[in-house]
Amino acid sequence: MTTAPDLAILKANFQQGHPFRRIIDKVMQAERITPEEGILLYEEGELGMLGALANHIRERKHGRNTYFNRNFHIEPTNLCIYTCKFCSYSRLIKQKEEGWTYTTDEMLDLVKQYDGKPVTEVHIVGGVLPHMGLDFFCDLISKIKAHRPELHVKAFTPVEYFYMFKKAKVSYEEGLRQLKESGLNSMPGGGAEIFHDEVRDVICKDKCNAQQWLDIHETAHGLDIPTNCTMLYGHIEKYHHRIDHMERLRQLQDRTSGFNCFIPLKFRSENNEMSHLGEVNVIEDLRNYAVARIYLDNIPHLKAYWPMIGRTTAQLSLAYGVNDIDGTIDDTTKIYSMAGSEEKNPALSTRDIVKLIKNVGKTPIERDSIYNVVQDFSDVNFKDEQQDGFIGLPVVG
Ligand code: SF4
Repeated sequence: MTTAPDLAILKANFQQGHPFRRIIDKVMQAERITPEEGILLYEEGELGMLGALANHIRERKHGRNTYFNRNFHIEPTNLCIYTCKFCSYSRLIKQKEEGWTYTTDEMLDLVKQYDGKPVTEVHIVGGVLPHMGLDFFCDLISKIKAHRPELHVKAFTPVEYFYMFKKAKVSYEEGLRQLKESGLNSMPGGGAEIFHDEVRDVICKDKCNAQQWLDIHETAHGLDIPTNCTMLYGHIEKYHHRIDHMERLRQLQDRTSGFNCFIPLKFRSENNEMSHLGEVNVIEDLRNYAVARIYLDNIPHLKAYWPMIGRTTAQLSLAYGVNDIDGTIDDTTKIYSMAGSEEKNPALSTRDIVKLIKNVGKTPIERDSIYNVVQDFSDVNFKDEQQDGFIGLPVVG
């Protein structure tokens, strides 16, 4: 545990007037750092100091609690009208034979595979296709809810929403209201990438822009639809772009308090138009988690999405501000495995995810999608794999 005296010792390493002394004071007093201080931490903060500061904040907010959930994904299609340069997942409509598109009945069958299993959430995101519009998804969600009313439906990013609302000629508010009435419970955080035009215009010019992404989230918050937020890092962006991105999120959160969680997403370089850039290393991953935890003082949770970053780095991240490692997943997402992540078939049994958290001295807590505690696994000893309820389910997609 990082205590205030530990930070006082850390502070003593810097001379009076050094900007890091001021930042350490701010962290000790739970004060907000400025964008300039955020950039300075990225540029000059060494890993040990960033980790101590981020862990102090993590433990003040959450103690040793580390959250996970039991979830599965549905990716309705990997065909997409957009052409984001970092994307390894999508295929253009003209490459139809390389893609998949599920019908409503096929997606309902995927949901039914979890009948009797202790999942609490289905996470639905995918490519953007003209025939998968607002009516199509309202119908899908209402059928999922008719089959399993208590299953939390976390679905679609502003990229998908922007297209479906425009095509249906409805406002963000009207579109979200229809989806909420159909059973939508919350929104994931994808599609944010990097907000700044200098980067966005190069890596994903044709999809919804930064302001549209932010406006759709703000509208959702106004309708009591909680959401998450993300940032795609480790490609052509500079540190000031990352801080600009987090600053826009921080300002929106000041107005609405609607974000539950921030999820930094690492650029993975296989099979996309930016492969030549390579990838940042694990030190940069950990530094990025830490700066995010320090900067985003008003977003409660920080997640390391383990299918993207790998299990070991996810474990390490728990000492750098992270307090959530997402869910069991059950091998139902292809987005990161197609981009070269180590996790080719991401699935963790509940037993494994609990062990992974306990092995680094943290407290495993199963949460629901909006961070209500489902079960504290501190004292649970798994006797056999059957208890888990996940082993042996078929691969989706
Ligand atoms: S990142 Fe999303 S919007 Fe962009 S091409 Fe891939 S699937 Fe389409």
